[in-house]
Parts: sequence; structure tokens; C-alpha cells
Amino acid sequence: MGLLEFAIDDGLNPKKVASTKGGEYHSPCPACGGKDRFIIWDKLNRFFCRQCRKSGDEVQYNRDFHGLSYKEACEKNGLVFKKRTFLLDKKTDQNDFHFEPQVVAAPPLEWRKRASSFILYSQEQLKKNSSALNFLFKRGFSQEAIEKFHLGWNPNSLWLRRSQWGLQSEERRLWIPSGVVIPSFSLSKNEPIKLKIRRNEWREGDNLPKYVEISGSMQSCAVYAISLEKPIVVVESELDAILVQQFVGDLCCAMALGGASKRPDAENHRLLSRAPVILFSLDVDSAGAKAYCWWKKMYPQMKLYPSPVGKSPGDACVAGIDLRKWISFAVL
Ligand SMILES: [Zn+2]
Repeated sequence: MGLLEFAIDDGLNPKKVASTKGGEYHSPCPACGGKDRFIIWDKLNRFFCRQCRKSGDEVQYNRDFHGLSYKEACEKNGLVFKKRTFLLDKKTDQNDFHFEPQVVAAPPLEWRKRASSFILYSQEQLKKNSSALNFLFKRGFSQEAIEKFHLGWNPNSLWLRRSQWGLQSEERRLWIPSGVVIPSFSLSKNEPIKLKIRRNEWREGDNLPKYVEISGSMQSCAVYAISLEKPIVVVESELDAILVQQFVGDLCCAMALGGASKRPDAENHRLLSRAPVILFSLDVDSAGAKAYCWWKKMYPQMKLYPSPVGKSPGDACVAGIDLRKWISFAVL
């Protein structure tokens, strides 16, 4: 069961094609792409790629496609198992609600070094690319925020050897698509721990996701400032979080889930538990509503605070909403 959820989280958009073996789903392969070559048998919890022949269970999936060690993959799976048990069993009493946030390891040293150079390179590329800069300006980002949060531009898709970035499994390449580069840094050491790219080649109907998380990125929610006394605004995307930080960074901290079904790790949990107020500003579609129920149970100081226009603070900003006014209203 966990496997299908991982695939959905990864933006593979698996489509149910048959009920054989308890439900068969097809999607692009996270390793070699394509359209429908990647098969998931949901009830059996198995995957198989008809092209690159990778196969296994949910632990193997996280080892193969997220660069996790066996132990990390098992831990991650334990977490998801608990979460799913809670969400799927409607009879679960609130007293039985159990969530143990996981201590998530940072990416390997080599990954962090490579990511640092790549971020510097992409920042230089962004300075030279007026259309990419305009894309960010139109979405409300200031020049200052673009620099402060190290946003960048990757002009060409890269397919690298995984070992170059300190990742295992050489059978497939490390894909770094062309597009807007959105890094996240560890707050304690200021090292890159996560890289997202908003693909410039993405079009409506694309089988691959609009936002690609570079393999090896840390599996936690991105936080852009630390303060144990300030309210936290929880949003879905990293760009939204940076925008909130830009406009209201003196009043609150922003946390990007990176997907409605993502859950906090131990460090995120520590911050959230101590926040006086948490605003939940994700799109409340069915996934968002489900997420909100979970978060509200976990953090009673949370308030539902959806964007006044569109699906996200980013949409609201484009539509001319004063983000500072909107958020100040809830936190002051
Ligand atoms: Zn494949």
C-alpha cells in the first residue's frame, strides 16, 4: 500500500489499468521515464519497470529512487505505515493516534558539495537569463529575495552519474532538469539539503512532474528561518514558502511541505510543537483536506488559513493580494 503513495508523492501520477493482483497501476518510471512502463501492484506492494527491469517493494523503491540506505528506507516505511493505518481506519480513536517523527539524515557530503557548486552556477545563469528572472518578478519575488534564497536557473537538463553526487545505484542517471532552481538549506549549518527544480519544459498533460526533487534531497519539510516564538505558515511549495518569508519574514516562519501528504520530520516537529500559532495555507482539495485533519490532530494550535484567491499564496500574490496584510491579520 505504501508503494502507491510513494509513487503519488513523487508525482508519477499512477493510473489504475486493471484489478488483477489487487490493482495494477501504470506510470512513467522514476529511473528511465517513458509513459506507462512502470507497473505497481498495489495490494502486493511490488513495482516493476518493463524497460530498465527494476523491481521490488516499497523499501527497494526508496533505496532505488530516493538514494536511501536500507535502514533509512525501512524507517521511512515504518512512518508511512503508521500514517496510513491512521488515515485509512475511520474507527481509529483519537487516543490511538500515534505519530513518531523520524530523524532524517542529511544528504551525503559529496551531494552537499555538488549541490553548493550547482547552486552557485545556477545563480550566475539566472543573472544572464531575463526571461527566467521575469518569471520570478511576475510571481512577486524581489531581487533581494532571489539573492537571499539563492534561487537560480539551470539552462540545460543534465543526466549525471549518481556517484558524482555521492549516491548509490549506478544503473540510472541523476536527472537535473532545466528550469528554476529552488534550494533549501539546513538552518544550523547553512548547507544545501534539498534541491527542487521547476521544469521549464513542463506543459499541461506532461507525464513528468512540474516540480522535480533532485534525487538524494533530504526527506523533510523545508524551513526558511528559525524562531521558536514565531507563528509558522505551512504551505505546499518551496516557492510559496520563500514568498511568505519575503513578505512577512519578520513576523513568522514559512514551512514548505513539498506535497500535501508529506509529514514533518523530528526537526520540523520540534519547531511546530513550539509554535504559538500555525497557519495551514495549502489548497484544501481532497488531499489538502485529508492533510489538514492530520495536522490539526497533531498540532491543536493550527488554524486553517487558505489563500483568499487561487490555490496558494503564490496565486494570491499574482492576483494582487497583499500577502503581508493577509498573513498579518492572522498572526498579529
Ligand atoms: Zn525504468
